[in-house]
Amino acid sequence: MISKPVSGWGRYPSIESSVHAPATRTAVARLLQSVQAPLIARGMGRSYGDASLAARSVLMTRLDHFIAFDSAAGTLECSAGVTLADILAVVVPRGWFLPVLPGTGYVTLGGAIAADVHGKNHHHDGSFSQFVDEISVMLADGSVLRCSRDSHADLFHASAGGMGLTGIILAARLRLRAVSSSHIDQRLLATPDLDTTLALLEQHEGSTYVVAWLDVNQGGARRGRGIVMLGEHARDGELAPDTRRALSVPLDMPAGLLGRPLTRAFNALYHARGARNTASHRVHYARYFFPLDALGDWNRLYGRRGFLQHQCVLPPDSARVALRELLQCVTASGLVSPLAVLKGFGAGNDNLLSFPRSGLTLTMDFARSDAALALCARLDAIVVAHGGRLYLAKDAAMSTATFRHGYPQWQRFQEIRERYGALGRFASLQSQRLGL
Ligand SMILES: Cc1cc2nc3c(=O)[nH]c(=O)nc-3n(C[C@H](O)[C@H](O)[C@H](O)COP(=O)(O)OP(=O)(O)OC[C@H]3O[C@@H](n4cnc5c(N)ncnc54)[C@H](O)[C@@H]3O)c2cc1C
Repeated sequence: MISKPVSGWGRYPSIESSVHAPATRTAVARLLQSVQAPLIARGMGRSYGDASLAARSVLMTRLDHFIAFDSAAGTLECSAGVTLADILAVVVPRGWFLPVLPGTGYVTLGGAIAADVHGKNHHHDGSFSQFVDEISVMLADGSVLRCSRDSHADLFHASAGGMGLTGIILAARLRLRAVSSSHIDQRLLATPDLDTTLALLEQHEGSTYVVAWLDVNQGGARRGRGIVMLGEHARDGELAPDTRRALSVPLDMPAGLLGRPLTRAFNALYHARGARNTASHRVHYARYFFPLDALGDWNRLYGRRGFLQHQCVLPPDSARVALRELLQCVTASGLVSPLAVLKGFGAGNDNLLSFPRSGLTLTMDFARSDAALALCARLDAIVVAHGGRLYLAKDAAMSTATFRHGYPQWQRFQEIRERYGALGRFASLQSQRLGL
């Protein structure tokens, strides 16, 4: 165990934590039996805010074993500390793929299940846990329950999306998707304004992968201009794993680096490049799904104070109006978001705290400052007023009231935690802030 400052990917907040790094299940059980103080599991620390932060944390990255891979059936069982990038490196050359991928491969299997992550194909395929058939969860007393939709279903639906608050996920069995190429055929469609962006997102719902990069820093007629990105698995070609070597941001950049002039210039260039590059082209899966992984430690670009990511989902009925209000609120604040993404979600699932539900999801980044925190509070109020909710894996600041509005099943979640002895034993800075 070592004591050190830890933070999420947004580097805000930061906390001094006693970090235990067990290498075996027995060591995790021994830890839970000997330490009665609250603790929280931690994977790659790629959640942005305080979901994996606590005075005592259990780093799961040493439990990184492949347990069973049936390459005929496409099923895989792994320990929770294996990363999605490592899974892909093993399964892609054998013609299999992970059916749901977030925007980085550097997340653990446990973290992907605990946040029930979504990808660019949520409108067709739902979120990560929908391909997970069984998880092994270690409870506070060190015992292990294998849970699925048929066995201890309450624990399954509380743990998938449950942000580590029910117990420690040790391993999972999941279904893979067959592919005949490691490449994606991508098409880019540049749009001049929000209405066109929304129309194209809707028009291309039939594509397997659909997402829009959005320039949220423009007001007036250009508000909501963007690039809609479509993707399909290529049908032929090689089955090659990712061999990129990431360059790293070596130092914390000056806080103002991603300020208004540079962000606006970058967004203008990006939009113009997208407008020129509309023909379909083939890219490796790593470049398509994980463009930011090419630059290690890119969170340092925001400087020491870190940044906030705000991701909400807005129900279909009010999504358009709410979206306009959110964008107006950002431009009125004078703050800029260097990166923003908009996409449509399909129906949600039965997990109590899973984020996705049908509607539109908007993600924006803001360099951390008092003004950015105040802006996020105003954005939260718009989201609540329109019946939306915020993503727990990105959150560092929402209030208990905002959480309860967005996640009406929170009381049932608490009952299940109580039933399995998790209350008071698994807790994070985030759970305390949200009244869990
Ligand atoms: C560049 C980037 C792009 C991203 N894009 C997306 C995206 O497109 N879609 C999306 O859904 N998310 C996205 N994310 C968020 C990321 O997928 C989630 O935050 C994910 O949970 C991170 O996994 P992790 O292993 O780093 O977990 P951590 O950040 O360490 O922990 C996240 C949560 O999982 C819990 N947890 C971790 N391991 C376990 C375990 N073994 N047992 C129980 N609980 C556990 C923690 O307690 C915590 O509550 C992105 C993040 C980054 C940095």
